[in-house]
Amino acid sequence: MAELDAGKLKENALTSIRLGIEDFERTKQKPEQGGDPARALSAVRNLFAGILLLFKYKIAVSVNDPDDAPALIFNPPEVMPQADGDGGVEWRPIGKFKKTTIDVATIKKRFKGFEIEVDWPAIEKMQECRNHLEHLHPANTLGEVAGFVADLFPVLREFIQTQLNEQPADLLATAWPVMLAHHEFFFNTMSKCSAAWNDAGVPERMQLWLDQCQCEECGSPLLGPRQHDIDCGSRVESQDDSFKYVCVACGHSDLIAPLMIKALNDAYDYDPRDGGEPGVEGCRCCDRSTFFILEQHCLWCGAELDYNKCSLCEEPLGQDDQDNGGYCGYHAHQLDKVMRDD
Ligand SMILES: [Zn+2]
Ligand SMILES: [Zn+2]
Ligand SMILES: [Zn+2]
Repeated sequence: MAELDAGKLKENALTSIRLGIEDFERTKQKPEQGGDPARALSAVRNLFAGILLLFKYKIAVSVNDPDDAPALIFNPPEVMPQADGDGGVEWRPIGKFKKTTIDVATIKKRFKGFEIEVDWPAIEKMQECRNHLEHLHPANTLGEVAGFVADLFPVLREFIQTQLNEQPADLLATAWPVMLAHHEFFFNTMSKCSAAWNDAGVPERMQLWLDQCQCEECGSPLLGPRQHDIDCGSRVESQDDSFKYVCVACGHSDLIAPLMIKALNDAYDYDPRDGGEPGVEGCRCCDRSTFFILEQHCLWCGAELDYNKCSLCEEPLGQDDQDNGGYCGYHAHQLDKVMRDD
């Protein structure tokens, strides 16, 4: 089996995180100061790799005998059924431990086995973000990278303190104050933005989807309402064809309503070929794609159904059945026939 040096794992983890933070700093500087937006992707790659290495280090030092560590970190050989020559089956490993180390899914299993706790939803969100960024042009990712670094901060802090029993400031040295400052800036800005929207007349049931919006130019979630719209007393609710957001990260400005509606519709995206069903449809009242089928009301204008179920068979009714006077399609048709036969 390949050799494993736990100390080396830790060192590589810290180097990777430090390089990631250096890349991140370069993305924020102006070109004349040596800034380079194209470093965004390598920042995220380095930071994510760094945290995984730190996880592997934790696994390696969780066993008393260092000789047990490699089997936990390297990918094990495949176990295959073999005929035992006597009509029975034996499950035997084929080949040796591989030279590759375990991936996120396997780290998760090892952590479970060793009762090491980590905020997995946060890690998975970061992994998703990294995969997503791989496919984008670097210029369109700066805002999203800033969110990634902000999210990484509490995960790292928690892990280093509770699992490694060390202080992040000691372990991460110069990278730590940068992360701390960024995290504080990020969340202060975030709460300022969300407070500013309080006076903007956002439909209450759309609030959740406002929180999901990202700048179309740079991917940043730091969006505030345009001051001009606030000063004029405009309301997103009714002036959705003019009310704009301004991105704090890049200054881009555009209509906020389509972003909110898109966030809602993306979350209920479905594929009929997989047996999926729509969760959202066009509202017959306000014409926006915000009618929430599960609860049969519009998240934007609040429109509800006049008739919730068929008064004969109690079948739940939707928007399309409302012209039937409180009957389902079948019973409306039946009644119609009776009336005509009379
Ligand atoms: Zn932006
Ligand atoms: Zn509506
Ligand atoms: Zn009916």
